[in-house]
Amino acid sequence: MDHFIPLAIPNFEGNEKKYVDDALEQGWVSTGGAYITKLEKDLAAFLKVENVAACQSGTSALHLSIVEAGVKPGDLVLVPPLTFIAAVNPVRYQFADPIFIDCDDSFCMDPDKLEAYCRDQCEIKDGVLFEKSSGRRVPAVVVVHVFGNMADMERIMDIAKRYSLKVVEDATEALGTYYLTGPYAGKYAGTIGDFGAFSFNGNKIITTGGGGAITANQTETVDHLRYLSTQAKNDPHYYIHDEIGYNYRMTNLQAALGVAQMEELPEFIRRKQANFEAYRAEFEDFDLVKLIGFRPGVCSNKWFYSLEIDRTRIHATMREIITALEGKRIQTRAIWGLINEQVPYLRDRAYQLEKAPYYAERILNIPSSTSLTGEEISYVAAEIKNLLRELADHEN
Ligand SMILES: *Cc1c(COP(=O)(O)O)cnc(C)c1O
Repeated sequence: MDHFIPLAIPNFEGNEKKYVDDALEQGWVSTGGAYITKLEKDLAAFLKVENVAACQSGTSALHLSIVEAGVKPGDLVLVPPLTFIAAVNPVRYQFADPIFIDCDDSFCMDPDKLEAYCRDQCEIKDGVLFEKSSGRRVPAVVVVHVFGNMADMERIMDIAKRYSLKVVEDATEALGTYYLTGPYAGKYAGTIGDFGAFSFNGNKIITTGGGGAITANQTETVDHLRYLSTQAKNDPHYYIHDEIGYNYRMTNLQAALGVAQMEELPEFIRRKQANFEAYRAEFEDFDLVKLIGFRPGVCSNKWFYSLEIDRTRIHATMREIITALEGKRIQTRAIWGLINEQVPYLRDRAYQLEKAPYYAERILNIPSSTSLTGEEISYVAAEIKNLLRELADHEN
């Protein structure tokens, strides 16, 4: 291949230029303008919810969720260890502390471990969950739909109800993923819990450069989140503020991009799904890696693809593998470093981690852009197979 194949790049095949030019011409470039309300309406229609607030990033959407969930200094919030750190940092923004709960084989939170922590380590007093050993309140759980896979929301929602936990869904990677069967059939990732956060960062399935959105199970809650995102300004003219607000509103320029991207979202999802099938065919009979699938009963947006490396036969480090593939002009990455091992979280507690450290040293993410061609997919697969065959231990 004579060109570089990046991991994930944005795709601007539609009306992006036209709408951004239009926003510029109208002079509406900041946190007011018709594209923002249009994007909110488009997102609400797509997700089949009443109300969505557009914000400046997925991180700000997550922070607003944590604020609105009533997380206070000294509280404990249940979070995943194997995901992007932005899912966890908002807990700290509120001066609360995370408890890291293990993932299952979908990389999403393991409902068995979540339940075990609530049952064995906590008690409910007057409808509020407390950790027994520390006496600290446990008001919320952050559930990430990793790589576009749906977490086991049927079990998680049941547990959250029994233990009075507010559920913040980090659906930043899962726009368009929905249940096909079961009690949540037809429901989209991000619309099942109390709050759902979305991201339109450059690597996500649609992008506004930087941007995000938030929804909640009550329309009035979304209105309140929007109010908090616009400096908690009571009306447009007089500077009266009843709460601490944030400058978290999306801009009209970003939203202009977003409206164009929403027009293409169904096509982007279709391509992600087709590319996954192409990779599946390529890796089907190759025993040194396993292409990780998605939850049955769910239609996933198949945002990102993961290969599990057979560590009984391949002992090269992730860095060695990634560097070797870079030499072939293929960009790959390791799944994240565990959040509980990052400097700001070294003193926080992790509960029964097994799967997260297991996958942390085995998962390689491979190119997944919507613009990937069949030829590129075959090349990527062939080079990965060649490399791993070379690296494999042939003694066993
Ligand atoms: C991208 C991402 C975020 C943050 O979104 P930004 O828009 O970049 O702030 C949070 N959580 C996860 C799991 C993500 O992948």
